[in-house]
Amino acid sequence: MSKVVKFGGSSLADAKQFQKVADIIRADEERKYVVVSAPGKRNSKDTKVTDMLYQTYELAEEGKDFSKELAAIEARYNEIIKGLKLKLSLKEEFEKIKSNFEAKAGSDYAASRGEYLNGIVMSNYLGFEFIDPAEIILFDDDGSFDAEITNRKVAKKLRSVEKAVISGFYGAFEDGKIKTFSRGGSDITGSIVARAIHADVYENWTDVSGFLVADPRIIDRPQPIETITYTELRELAYMGASVLHEDAIFPVRKEGIPINIRNTNKPEDPGTWIVESTAKKSTFTITGIAGRKGFCCVNVSKDMMNAEVGFVRRVLQAFEDQNISIEHVPSGIDTMTVFVAQDEFIDKEQAVVSEIHRLAKPDLLEIESDLALIAVVGRGMKRTRGTAARIFSALAHVSVNVRMIDQGSSELNIIIGVENRDFEKAIKAIYDIFVVTQL
Ligand code: ASP
Repeated sequence: MSKVVKFGGSSLADAKQFQKVADIIRADEERKYVVVSAPGKRNSKDTKVTDMLYQTYELAEEGKDFSKELAAIEARYNEIIKGLKLKLSLKEEFEKIKSNFEAKAGSDYAASRGEYLNGIVMSNYLGFEFIDPAEIILFDDDGSFDAEITNRKVAKKLRSVEKAVISGFYGAFEDGKIKTFSRGGSDITGSIVARAIHADVYENWTDVSGFLVADPRIIDRPQPIETITYTELRELAYMGASVLHEDAIFPVRKEGIPINIRNTNKPEDPGTWIVESTAKKSTFTITGIAGRKGFCCVNVSKDMMNAEVGFVRRVLQAFEDQNISIEHVPSGIDTMTVFVAQDEFIDKEQAVVSEIHRLAKPDLLEIESDLALIAVVGRGMKRTRGTAARIFSALAHVSVNVRMIDQGSSELNIIIGVENRDFEKAIKAIYDIFVVTQL
C-alpha cells in the first residue's frame, strides 16, 4: 500500500506546522510520497510566500531594488529551518534566485520558488529524497499540461525512489523553462503523483476537516460531508464550494483513486472521502448545497421556436462570438433563457442583443440581472421521492420567489435561480429542511 500526501500552505506556514506534518507522515509507513505547497499565512494578517514572491518579482521586472523583499522571504524559511533545528542553509539557493530575478526569469519561475524551497526544507527534515517537479511534470509549447508524458515520467522516476518529497504547483516546458499551474495548483501535483504510482489513496491535508454540506459563512457550523462522488464534487465546486483545486480531480479519477481531505490541525477527524462511486448513502438526502450570486439571464421568445431548426444554436452563437461562457439554458416551447455571469456579460450586452436579433430574429428579448444560482446536489435524490417538492415548499415558506428551475437529467442536482438578495435566505431554508429538521 502507498499513499500520496499533499500538504497545503497553512499546514506548512511555520516550524510548528512542519512538526505536525512530520508527525502525520511518521504515523503511517504508507505515507511515502509527500507533495508540498509554499509556506502559507501564519495568521489572518500574514502574507503567503507565493504572494511575496510575485510582489518581489514585479519589482525585479521594473528594474527596481528588491533586496529587502527577497530578504523577507529568506527570513521566513530561515525561521522554519531554525525552529526545526536543521543543519541546512538556503544561502546559495537565494543567491541563484536573486540572479535569476535580475535576469527576468519570469513570474512563473518566481512563484515556483516557494514550493521548490519548501520541498528542500521538508525533505531535509524527513530524510526523504527531494524531487524537483521541473524534471518530471511537463507542459506543451502552448502552455497546456501534458498529462500522458508526465504520467510516464513520474512513474519511471518514482519506481526507484522509496520515499520522496516533491514540490507542488509547477513543472516545466521541454526546454526547462518553469511553468506553474493556476493558483492552488499543488493539489493537482498531488493528484498527478497519486495517479502515476497507482496510490491507494491521495490524502490532501489542509486546514479544514473536509467538505461541509453548506458554506459556513452562511450556515453556522454546518455538518461535514463524509463521502462525496467526483461528479457531485464537480457540481458543488463549480458552484463555489472550494477546498480543492477543481482540476485536481482529473488525474486520480482516471485511475479510480479516492481522495481523502484531511485537517492537519485535527488529524483525528476522518475528513471527506471523494470517490468514483459508492454504495454508501449520504447522511442526508442531499450531499451538499452551493451557489453563487451575480448572474444575468437573457430571455428570448419566438413563436414556433421549437419547430425552427437551428434556432438555439443561432442564439448561442451570439454569446460565443463575444467569448461569453454560458451557465445554464433552461427552455420552454416558445422561449429559451440563457444564464451568464453578470460581470462577464455586462460590457458586451448590447453587442450580444443585436447579434441575437440579427442571427435568430426573435419576437421578444429581455434581460434580467442580479440573480443567484443555487445547486442542491445529491446522489441520493434519484432514489428519493419528493426532493424537489421539499425544496420548493421550503422556499415558499420563507417567501423566496423561485425564478428558474433546472434539473439535470442525471438527477444529481437541482439548480434554482433566485434574486441575489434571497440567496442566503434560500440556502438556509434548504439546509434547514434537509439537515436540521429533516422534515
Ligand atoms: N502556493 C501556490 C498558491 O498559493 C500553490 C498552492 O498552494 O497550491 O497558489
